[in-house]
Amino acid sequence: MGTELWQQALQDAVTSADQLAEYFDFDPRPLMAVAAKYPMRITPYYLGLIEKIGDPIWKQAVPDLHELADDGLTDPLAEEEFSPVPAIVHRYPDRVIFYVSGTCASYCRFCTRKRKVGCADMALSFRDLRQGIDYIAANSQIRDVIFSGGDPLVLPDSVLQDLLARVHAIPHVEIIRIGTRVPVTLPERITDRLCTLLKKFQPLYVNTHFNHPRELTLQATEACARLIDAGIVLGNQTVLLRGVNDSPEIISELFRGLLKMRVRPYYLHHMDLTRGTGHFRTSVKTGLKIIHSLRGPVSGLASPHYVIDLPGGKGKVPLVPQYVKRRGDTLLIQTADGDVVEYPDMPS
Ligand SMILES: *Cc1c(COP(=O)(O)O)cnc(C)c1O
Ligand code: SF4
Repeated sequence: MGTELWQQALQDAVTSADQLAEYFDFDPRPLMAVAAKYPMRITPYYLGLIEKIGDPIWKQAVPDLHELADDGLTDPLAEEEFSPVPAIVHRYPDRVIFYVSGTCASYCRFCTRKRKVGCADMALSFRDLRQGIDYIAANSQIRDVIFSGGDPLVLPDSVLQDLLARVHAIPHVEIIRIGTRVPVTLPERITDRLCTLLKKFQPLYVNTHFNHPRELTLQATEACARLIDAGIVLGNQTVLLRGVNDSPEIISELFRGLLKMRVRPYYLHHMDLTRGTGHFRTSVKTGLKIIHSLRGPVSGLASPHYVIDLPGGKGKVPLVPQYVKRRGDTLLIQTADGDVVEYPDMPS
């Protein structure tokens, strides 16, 4: 079979600052050192969403000199420590992350795994994948397998089909999840053929990664609809990014827009302490303020957990605004509007 449209789009992606300078008026030279350290790739579709230099799409996709800052941690979640075999991260008893791909359609500048996505040493061998599957098969407490990477959906259909079939056939695996940014950066990848393939591996959950309302285009909406119509449950993980989406207005527009697309906001992630991403980090206070602003004015369906993934592999913890102002026999609870209401509690 020939090259599919989406594979052609990947080949046509912009992978250097020089190439980007053919589209926008800026000096690419300073950015070349950044792209040499952390690879750059922007699909033609995602490039088309950039309206001007420095806008929210640009910031997510174009290298920035701040990435060379020597701050933060290379492996903020200690994933390597929790990796029994190269393709697996096993931190929670019943679920694992299964790295099936070392590359993505576009590289996000804020990526937690920027130490390795798109780098040669992240490339997975056939042996790594087989070892990963053997590990899942040998550990019967694993119920939930999260295909991740890199982006699993940049794999050819045949490879994806093979991996899904092998994992799906393991009796103790109850659900499979796929984490992918392809609906955001390469919506043409969500072909009918892919949906027919995925449909066979129910129950299948896909978590995608929209960060800004400008990403909710007609093409992205249709890509999500094709997945959902194939019976796949769609969720969304947003990263809170300074200068991109760190305001209540942008986040509520994003989450309401996702609900209209039948995509459920699942997590709002506080930025990890990843080296080279400090310019994207907001304060926790900003995140809590945004979450607080959603409660009441916006549907509960559009209020995901705001989570911080603690360093050292300590795991995700939800952060919740402080609504309980006083504990005791009578609680003092603050409403979303700021009133304080007394609530009689049961003695425990
Ligand atoms: C986030 C994460 C998961 C999945 O967590 P859920 O809260 O179930 O979505 C699993 N393993 C690791 C290592 C993770 O970081
Ligand atoms: S798609 Fe995901 S794994 Fe790939 S660069 Fe973006 S955040 Fe990282």
